[in-house]
Amino acid sequence: IWKELENSYRAILTGPSFNAWIEQAKPLSLENNILTIEVPSTLHKDYWEKNLAGKIVETGFKLTGEEITPVFIIHSDDNTTEKKVEKNHVTHILPKNSKKALLNAKYTFDTFVIGKGNQMAHAAALVVAEDPGATYNPLFFYGGVGLGKTHLMHAIGHQMLANQPDAKIKYVTSETFANDFINSIQNRTSEAFRQEYRNVDLLLVDDIQFFADKEGTQEEFFHTFNTLYNDGRQIVLTSDRLPNEIPKLQERLISRFAWGLSVDITPPDLETRIAILRKKANSEGLEIPDDTLSYIAGQIDSNIRELEGALVRVQAYATMNSHDITTSLAADALKSLKPASQKNQMTILLIQEEVCKFYHLNLKDLKGKKRVKSIVVPRQIAMYLSRELTDNSLPKIGAEFGGKDHTTVIHAHEKIQQLIETDPIIQKEVSDIKNTLLS
Ligand code: ADP
Ligand code: MG
Repeated sequence: IWKELENSYRAILTGPSFNAWIEQAKPLSLENNILTIEVPSTLHKDYWEKNLAGKIVETGFKLTGEEITPVFIIHSDDNTTEKKVEKNHVTHILPKNSKKALLNAKYTFDTFVIGKGNQMAHAAALVVAEDPGATYNPLFFYGGVGLGKTHLMHAIGHQMLANQPDAKIKYVTSETFANDFINSIQNRTSEAFRQEYRNVDLLLVDDIQFFADKEGTQEEFFHTFNTLYNDGRQIVLTSDRLPNEIPKLQERLISRFAWGLSVDITPPDLETRIAILRKKANSEGLEIPDDTLSYIAGQIDSNIRELEGALVRVQAYATMNSHDITTSLAADALKSLKPASQKNQMTILLIQEEVCKFYHLNLKDLKGKKRVKSIVVPRQIAMYLSRELTDNSLPKIGAEFGGKDHTTVIHAHEKIQQLIETDPIIQKEVSDIKNTLLS
């Protein structure tokens, strides 16, 4: 009867679920029409009772003509962490699929487009996913917003779960970690907190730049890190910059992060942006001509999240107008991204003032001739933004910067464009200033 049952379950369950539920269960005896089945945990017991037991009754009746009643007993194993966990009401171990639900289903290796800026990060992620804890530990991704750090992190989680359905994986942002930690102190549940964080095979902590200034949290994370590391568990971290550039990050954390591999992700080149759009369009079943994809990719040049946003916008615009997606439709749709009024209201002075505020400079220096780096870069950023965000001519912009030549403005623009592609910090600063200006 068990063989028969196995076969019918195999037909209705996917590979991983079959492995998770059926293979883990063991028929012990069939006496007086009671089929005793041993399962590894209460979680398994619940799942069997809720979802799988019906089949037993059905198949049992078919084979024996009798009503078979399944009874589940939990395999006792004195060192299962699960038991301890239950006793202390610590973590509820989640069922397999909701464990997966903590990861975004869309963020897999399959949906990730490999390009120049993320090649290395992608390769490292794959290695770590296939062989967690054994190679690059910790794996540290850094780079500007919207470039795929979170996506890769989740992809590692998915892949590891595909290989090891029982792996314990925890994804959190650094803020969640900090909040959990603070709550655990307030509620006196430090032990539970530790169980939760130190008892995983893969810990993913996103955006650790927000650990800056949080002394206690850093201290706790240091211990979490050590425990996991010493147990050979994989740790993956992300940040918008290198560890040693995160203000007030403890030296000992910085040095531990350096034990593994740090890889940066830089903004995608045009080709990669087109490839991402194409993939996205395909997965949404959208028909978009190549030249239109190129056009959209040309409009949004640094951030993949914005690139996706642009596509959504174009799609919505096409639907609203019941029109196919074409380049001119895309141009119309994206024009409204930057309302004309905003573009007109933006002035060189506003930009200069914002840049001064951001870098704590005075306007005279910004427009002046000093050649120290702390002034030159902000000056070039202000010129770059003046070119990007206003309709002023190059000579006019030069004039507004203490009478500089238009070639200086061109040079500044090129310089900053290049820095945005190579330096995630500059990229972030420019985008922060831009966001403030446009908000
Ligand atoms: P980050 O964490 O670096 O800020 P995310 O991982 O959140 O960026 O990525 C932003 C969006 O861009 C997500 O929707 C993600 O799926 C998408 N994305 C990023 N990189 C890629 C890529 N290489 N291929 C496909 N989609 C990507
Ligand atoms: Mg992210």
